[in-house]
Amino acid sequence: MDLRFGEKEEKLRQEVRTFLKKQLENRDTGGAQLGSRNEDEFEFALNFNRELATRGWIAPAWPKEYGGLAADVKEQMVFNEEFGYYGAPDTGTRGFGVGMIGPTLIIHGSPEQKANYLPKITSGEHIWCQGYSEPGAGSDLASLQTRAVRDGDDYVINGQKIWTSGGHRANQMFCLVRTDPDAPKHRGISFLLIDDIKNTPGLTIRPLVNMAGRHHFNEVFFEDVRVPARNIVGEENRGWYVAMTLLDFERSGIGVTAGQKRTLEKLTATLKAAPTILRERNRIKLADFVIANNVGRYLGYRIGSMQAAGRVPNYEASVVKIYQSELGQRIYNFGVNMLGLAGQFRPEEPRAPLFGELPESYIMAVPSSIYSGSNEIQRNIIAARPAARLSPVRPDSQGGSGLTTPPYRYPGLCVEGIAFPVPA
Ligand SMILES: Cc1cc2nc3c(=O)[nH]c(=O)nc-3n(C[C@H](O)[C@H](O)[C@H](O)COP(=O)(O)OP(=O)(O)OC[C@H]3O[C@@H](n4cnc5c(N)ncnc54)[C@H](O)[C@@H]3O)c2cc1C
Repeated sequence: MDLRFGEKEEKLRQEVRTFLKKQLENRDTGGAQLGSRNEDEFEFALNFNRELATRGWIAPAWPKEYGGLAADVKEQMVFNEEFGYYGAPDTGTRGFGVGMIGPTLIIHGSPEQKANYLPKITSGEHIWCQGYSEPGAGSDLASLQTRAVRDGDDYVINGQKIWTSGGHRANQMFCLVRTDPDAPKHRGISFLLIDDIKNTPGLTIRPLVNMAGRHHFNEVFFEDVRVPARNIVGEENRGWYVAMTLLDFERSGIGVTAGQKRTLEKLTATLKAAPTILRERNRIKLADFVIANNVGRYLGYRIGSMQAAGRVPNYEASVVKIYQSELGQRIYNFGVNMLGLAGQFRPEEPRAPLFGELPESYIMAVPSSIYSGSNEIQRNIIAARPAARLSPVRPDSQGGSGLTTPPYRYPGLCVEGIAFPVPA
């Protein structure tokens, strides 16, 4: 691995850091969840994205013609690391828009789709959500049953999606639908874009409240929902392959590691000021987590280093996903315990230590081993993917961000029997 940051990247880092410190002053409410907990946070995240848009920082990795800065992999790592460390808020514009649908359209979209949708992502106007999962289709996504039937110039959709994160705040949805029920299950799926979902007749969004008591995701029901046929991405019945494109934008997860680092710094400062007995009880454990967090950072840099060298990470990204999600669960669990009874106060309680970040992060870390392809599935990938699939990065790939769900792309062969150590 060779990922050294040079003068150019360090200068950018300072610029991004100064911007974030100013923007996020007095908004230290627990990092990554900022933007999703309530209307006030959502408004704040909207304005934050508008500020980013004026700098071309919503999608720095995108080509300039689509509103990006054509940033290289190292520059993207700098953005991701600083955004993660400072808990930069999002609305669904960057996560789903920049990380998922944008790069997919850059590759598979028609010229009209690119011209229509990409600028609205980089301006922060379009807030996207992802309609993939269904009650009977999660890890086995190709079992999805939501049906779309061609009727004149439209598709008519009937069915249901579930776990649609941010669906209640989004104005746009990309989704997978079954257009040929008789074809083998991967071959009868199409990829559709639904505009203005709040005002689409027949589309109903119902809240699902998560175990943190937050309205994060939703069920979405389709009853004769009409979508113009021009909103199909790629060919009819070939949507599975469009959907899998998302997987090429695998992430280094460096933002996750940076967010964990910041939490560990706060816990260290708290422990330094704590009575001796608490310091003695916790400092070795805390030191272990700091070391483990550094291991996570270098695993993330490994992904960046591969991308910078023109290689596409595959099982390496799964290693990172497992490592970071499970480490996060342990760190936040430790933090809640270290802070004692008061450590259980949620952010709404003014006396909560560290703004209630720890219990919130602890609860929100639980699903991190389920979404983006569950950790069991990631382990399958590590076991089953060819060890060295070294193909050039697509020229239009944005590298360091994106998603890893769902995980079916490289069935077969094998194997590098990695049993990656995760600190207990
Ligand atoms: C917080 C959160 C946000 C989400 N947001 C979205 C979203 O915005 N849009 C969207 O479309 N979906 C979203 N999802 C859904 C997510 O993609 C699915 O939960 C995930 O793919 C797992 O599917 P499932 O829940 O149906 O579990 P299942 O697939 O039913 O799995 C149940 C269990 O069996 C295990 N398992 C399944 N198959 C295998 C196998 N082959 N080998 C070993 N173990 C296996 C799984 O690991 C899991 O432990 C979200 C989920 C969460 C938790």
